[in-house]
Amino acid sequence: QAKAQGKDTFCFFTPEMDQETVRKFTMESYLRQALSKDQLSLHYQSIVSASSGDVVGAEALLRWHCPEYGQVPPDQFIPLAEESGLIVTIGDWVLETACLQAAEWMATACVPFKIAVNVSYPQFRDGHIVSTVEKVLKKSGLPAQCLELELTERLLMEDERGCAEALKKLSAMGVQLSIDDFGTGFSALNYLQRFPVNTLKIDRSFVAELDCSKESPALISAIIQMAHALGIEVVGEGVETRQQVNFLTLQTCDYLQGYHFARPVPADQFQLQFSESCYLGAYI
Ligand code: C2E
Ligand code: MG
Ligand code: MG
Ligand code: MG
Repeated sequence: QAKAQGKDTFCFFTPEMDQETVRKFTMESYLRQALSKDQLSLHYQSIVSASSGDVVGAEALLRWHCPEYGQVPPDQFIPLAEESGLIVTIGDWVLETACLQAAEWMATACVPFKIAVNVSYPQFRDGHIVSTVEKVLKKSGLPAQCLELELTERLLMEDERGCAEALKKLSAMGVQLSIDDFGTGFSALNYLQRFPVNTLKIDRSFVAELDCSKESPALISAIIQMAHALGIEVVGEGVETRQQVNFLTLQTCDYLQGYHFARPVPADQFQLQFSESCYLGAYI
């Protein structure tokens, strides 16, 4: 593997490095070229209103087709992109691509539409993300209210001061902020007071446990009540079964997302799902 890259890189790999480290190094060098070689794409997963069933938005999810490794799951390459700093350039591309696409969909939409984009900590350094968002909103013409940035709890805990300013600026622009995988992080809930959060996304592990644990229904119902008391909307993630839909709807969860409704799909396929939802909605 290392040899294939030429003599110069061979000396990087000392015997102490294990397979995993070598794989990471190699993968990172491929990832570095992914953007320029046009190997990245976005899939879109529907987010539906729990009360009407309408598609009211989509989450953009990054896909990487690496010639060497094939389709690499985000859980493998996103951490790598974060560690190496590549996520800043890649994240800019994701934001621009998702906003241009969403603006196109908005034009044909019969309901308000929101595009959700995952963002990582390094994108916040020196307020970088603020200028990127300003730029892509201007370029795409997408209203700020139609863009929702998905943050992790870790991001809010890690470097509070670094991110707080950027988050306040984004919020003042009208950009929506949501907390992804809510309940799995460090969960010192006081950040909900300090940051202008619009949405909580209940982690899919809670939803998956609904059928088999006593605690999970109680936790979900408590999260929804707390969020609503704070004026925050709630998305249930990883919804796979009718029972989960019923429970979350009964608990007044606002939005649902999961394989039960739709898998993440390429833009053209999402467009079909979206226009079908609009068409059906118009005649009910
Ligand atoms: P996430 O933001 O929590 O995204 C939801 C993940 O759950 C997606 O995995 C989605 O495909 C999956 N999912 C959706 N519905 C279901 C369901 O019903 N059942 C199950 N089992 N899974 C479901 P995916 O696409 O593999 O992405 C994994 C993670 O990678 C994302 O988790 C997000 O944290 C990260 N990621 C993806 N795209 C980006 C990006 O553009 N930027 C950044 N920074 N992170 C990203
Ligand atoms: Mg997300
Ligand atoms: Mg999530
Ligand atoms: Mg996640």
